[in-house]
Amino acid sequence: MNVFEELGIPTIINARGTSTRVSGGLMPEDVAEAMRQATQGCVDMQVLQGRASEILAEITGAEAGIVTSGAAASLLLGTAACIARLDPSAMNRLPDATGLKNEVVVVRSQRNFFDHAVRQAGVRLVEVGLADRYSGAGIRDAEAWEIADAITAQTACVLYVAAPQSEPALPEVVAVAHERGVPVLVDAAAQLPPVTNLRRFIAEGADLVAFSGGKAILGPQASGILAGQRDLVQSAALQMLDHNVWFREWRPPASLFDKHRLKGLPQHGIGRPCKVGKEQVIGLLVALRKFVAEDPAIRHAACLSTLREVQEPMSGVARLKWTLVDRGSNAVPILEVQVHRADNGLGALEVIMQLQDGSPSIHVDHSGAKQGLVRINPMSLKPGEGRIVGERIASAILAGMAGRA
Ligand SMILES: *Cc1c(COP(=O)(O)O)cnc(C)c1O
Repeated sequence: MNVFEELGIPTIINARGTSTRVSGGLMPEDVAEAMRQATQGCVDMQVLQGRASEILAEITGAEAGIVTSGAAASLLLGTAACIARLDPSAMNRLPDATGLKNEVVVVRSQRNFFDHAVRQAGVRLVEVGLADRYSGAGIRDAEAWEIADAITAQTACVLYVAAPQSEPALPEVVAVAHERGVPVLVDAAAQLPPVTNLRRFIAEGADLVAFSGGKAILGPQASGILAGQRDLVQSAALQMLDHNVWFREWRPPASLFDKHRLKGLPQHGIGRPCKVGKEQVIGLLVALRKFVAEDPAIRHAACLSTLREVQEPMSGVARLKWTLVDRGSNAVPILEVQVHRADNGLGALEVIMQLQDGSPSIHVDHSGAKQGLVRINPMSLKPGEGRIVGERIASAILAGMAGRA
């Protein structure tokens, strides 16, 4: 009996990838074992984060880095760092940022549910640009000069949400921000793979970059990375770690902290609720090293083979059509099953809900439901589960047809 069964919690088949809502992915055994070992020793947490900083710096090309409790935590900590820098009084005041740099500039089309984490630091988001798309006539989005014009003496940083479609390009944003002495914080939570993105945003001039540890890296679900400029990462670490010590007795690792530049230690900071345990730090580091060392073609081939398992039982069903969206080994291949209401009386959302309501419950990617697509992401499927997904889709479609006849 596994731990879930013992507690009476049904496990689900996760065909929607590493989403938080469905508990992320499946951790590789050696990462889980590293975390287990970490439970059996005690360390000085700042020494652990100091070593993490060296490893994260090496892997990302940044000056420093810390392990956080998720990319959202990295956004909160990164923003707090841009506001308070190395001033412990400012750290103590947050989230009251009155009189401090309390504005963050963001392109309006990049606003998203996760930027609540940025606002949590006490700032106001200043939106710029207009993605003129819905009128049917528009073609443009924000331009670099609009960001430049929104920067004032109150600007703590520019928030940039990295995605293939993000405009303007990051180097242009960095250029106008740096000209005005303002750092750029990049939300790159889900921009892996490709593994090269671990270095890309820093190379393009980002001052801080946030990645999720629980998505493609397959580290602990509640882990993340904040990497970037040493002073900013140091400030973030100061606002997260426990500092209930006398300044005299505080002997931090030189790899992350410059004690001589601080007048004192802050109280527990705004990032204290973003605490990570030693298990998360170790798990993230081991998973990250594995992710970097792995040949992307191997993971890609495994994903394709899982998707073939899904296709097999569906291939007998007439009129059931699907497309394999495969953008090569630097992206996760996705199977898009087309559900035509006219064929079987069921819309994509009904099929998705039937899959969820069945036993075992199957969760697929519902992002294409409005276009009649049931998307299958192979990332978090275990061997054998792909076939069950294919069978259940086939029977949902067949039952729909029978119901109509
Ligand atoms: C997933 C995601 C986050 C949050 O990451 P966590 O590691 O779950 O905190 C933030 N921003 C974007 C764009 C994301 O996709």
